[in-house]
Amino acid sequence: MTINTTAPASPAIRIRGAGKVFSAAGGDVTALTGIDLDIAEGAFVCLLGPSGCGKSTLLRLIGDLDQPTSGTVEVHGRSAAEARQARDYGMVFQQPGLMDWRSVRNNIELPLQVQGVNRTERRRIAGEMLELVRLEDFGDHRPAQLSGGMQQRAAIARALSFAPRLLLMDEPLSALDEMNREYMQGELRRIWQSTSTTVVSVTHSIPEAVFLSTEVVIMSPLPGRIAERIPVDLPEQRTAETRTSDHFYEIETRVRKALHGVLEDAIRSAA
Ligand code: ADP
Ligand code: MG
Repeated sequence: MTINTTAPASPAIRIRGAGKVFSAAGGDVTALTGIDLDIAEGAFVCLLGPSGCGKSTLLRLIGDLDQPTSGTVEVHGRSAAEARQARDYGMVFQQPGLMDWRSVRNNIELPLQVQGVNRTERRRIAGEMLELVRLEDFGDHRPAQLSGGMQQRAAIARALSFAPRLLLMDEPLSALDEMNREYMQGELRRIWQSTSTTVVSVTHSIPEAVFLSTEVVIMSPLPGRIAERIPVDLPEQRTAETRTSDHFYEIETRVRKALHGVLEDAIRSAA
């Protein structure tokens, strides 16, 4: 028997022939079809596409919040269900979903408490997480006393509290105003760089996808599928200047053209 030592490490996410059909009273809805996707460990991938193209559904399949009706989804070489059991996932949604009667610190500690981590250890980790998201002075505040951006940072801290290998985010910045969003994009990059977490994030903002990602995955609707994958070879350190650089503009243009193609196809096939 020969052992192939040059085989690449298995990707964080491996999806093969995945499809999702929702059965509804008015007829079946094919939300996703023929999804083949590998995402490498440590990547920051944004799923981008028009509303209804299946971005949230794909993210939910990866996170085992829903199951494919065909094909397979593997996370770290296991089924998505096993990965969830092993607490591989942290999740962040558009609404921070913090509990208002608990302090910010106690919200961050909650997943650890559920896992039975002792109080001293919980305090220590929550302290680290508060520092990571720059909320160290707000641990004893109630969520309602925080701005939208700060609440979302607390939700990210909560999601990262048990050091998941994979962070899944569904439009995490969509509820924020433009200035706050750009600031938070920088924060997401910084947090991703200071952890070794693989990130898959859904967005419908082109500049956001380009700024954040190591790769943009463009999806098309009717039925939802992967239309194009665009690598983002911008420098590791991304700043306000990155957004005004020629190369940023080039990648943004490429993404925009791909999306226009997707929309034209959708309009043609619906006509
Ligand atoms: P996106 O996040 O890209 O806007 P979704 O993944 O939410 O898209 O939805 C993809 C398609 O699947 C849409 O046509 C949507 O109406 C349909 N869909 C999503 N969830 C359900 C569900 N639970 N039941 C029926 N249809 C659904
Ligand atoms: Mg969605």
